[in-house]
Amino acid sequence: MLRIGIVGGGVSGLAAAVALRSVGHAPEVFERAPQIQEVGSGLTLWANATRVLRELGALDDCLERSHRIDDFHLQHASGRMLMRIPIEAFATHAVAMHRADLQAALVRRLPAGMVMTQQQCLGIREDASGVYLQLAAGERGPFDVVLGADGVRSCIRSYVRGADEPLSYRGYTIWRGVAQVDARQPVQSAISETWGLGHRFGILPLGGGRVCWYATANARQPKTTRLEDRQATILALVDGWHDPVQSLVAATPSEAILEHATYDRVVRAGWSRGAVALVGDAAHPLTPNLGQGACLALEDAVVLGRLLIGVQGREAVHGALRRFEQMRLPRVRAMARRCRWLGALGQWEDPRANFLRLQAVKVIPGALFTRTSRAIQSFAADQVAPFRPL
Ligand SMILES: Cc1cc2nc3c(=O)[nH]c(=O)nc-3n(C[C@H](O)[C@H](O)[C@H](O)COP(=O)(O)OP(=O)(O)OC[C@H]3O[C@@H](n4cnc5c(N)ncnc54)[C@H](O)[C@@H]3O)c2cc1C
Repeated sequence: MLRIGIVGGGVSGLAAAVALRSVGHAPEVFERAPQIQEVGSGLTLWANATRVLRELGALDDCLERSHRIDDFHLQHASGRMLMRIPIEAFATHAVAMHRADLQAALVRRLPAGMVMTQQQCLGIREDASGVYLQLAAGERGPFDVVLGADGVRSCIRSYVRGADEPLSYRGYTIWRGVAQVDARQPVQSAISETWGLGHRFGILPLGGGRVCWYATANARQPKTTRLEDRQATILALVDGWHDPVQSLVAATPSEAILEHATYDRVVRAGWSRGAVALVGDAAHPLTPNLGQGACLALEDAVVLGRLLIGVQGREAVHGALRRFEQMRLPRVRAMARRCRWLGALGQWEDPRANFLRLQAVKVIPGALFTRTSRAIQSFAADQVAPFRPL
């Protein structure tokens, strides 16, 4: 049995803990926040992610708090339908759900005490006896393995990679909110994205009358909007857009709107150093254009769990962590490129470029999207198959 310290209690840290415990190891999660985050917004979890949730024994719990996705609609700001893409049925379906519900479902798969909050990790050291975490409250260890699941600004990443290239700013801001609408009123069941010039607006029904939305705007430099001004800023951007764009923003208090400057990294090799490895956004932060960041974090968890089945001893651990990177790198790198490209296309603001974009959408066969989506969603079942949760 390996003692595994996991820094970060987001989707990747929690999923890794469930996966590693399921294969007989002893993980402990150290999260800096006072509680497992209630903050966040909606997420799309595609079939590759729901398949992993099933393997982790958390799918039924998630299905009770999510909305099944059957269609994706691409629309013009006027409301005109540009493309209607049916979401292919896999063994498990794609859903949209609140991040807090997903994290809570994962926590419920773990025994009390395995996830510790208010545990900020400040540093790390490794010697012959194992790896030690330097937490604000004191040192913990030795661990046989440490995972950096501490997100896009990972401190474990600095230990693993040393001086690293900075995050790349991709030129636009994303706001997200969750509007509570009358649960008795019909809500659109498809997820959708609407294109304007340099702006996009996305809608994800989450079930129970909750509707997640996002809006984007180009900005040469990362900038912040005052909390109290966010709603008015977005309402001005989507003035005149089709229903229910305006009403969703109007139903979300300004203080509840999240704002992110969009960053990613070019995905490079080098995710582990000795017995310390990176997972999720710490290893491979993507722009959110395919809604795949958390899905990939879930995949990471089961692949790592499977690779560490029965592993004992330093050399074997190091080898398994290197193998993890080899298995994940090509898929994650391709996804990051695609996300970046889609984001750039979605943010075009030149009217002539926009005209070309709209013409292209008319002639691109839906089958192309279906094929791409299949490659993304039909995640290597063979990598997961032998994995059985406790
Ligand atoms: C606008 C937007 C929309 C998105 N939409 C989707 C979507 O629809 N579908 C999808 O699959 N993905 C989506 N994503 C991506 C997804 O949110 C991330 O990929 C996912 O949350 C990564 O999980 P993580 O656990 O690796 O990192 P995080 O969620 O960032 O979790 C890291 C955790 O580590 C903790 N931590 C950090 N530093 C320390 C420290 N020093 N000590 C202790 N704890 C620490 C943090 O508090 C946090 O809880 C979206 C992202 C954005 C920005």
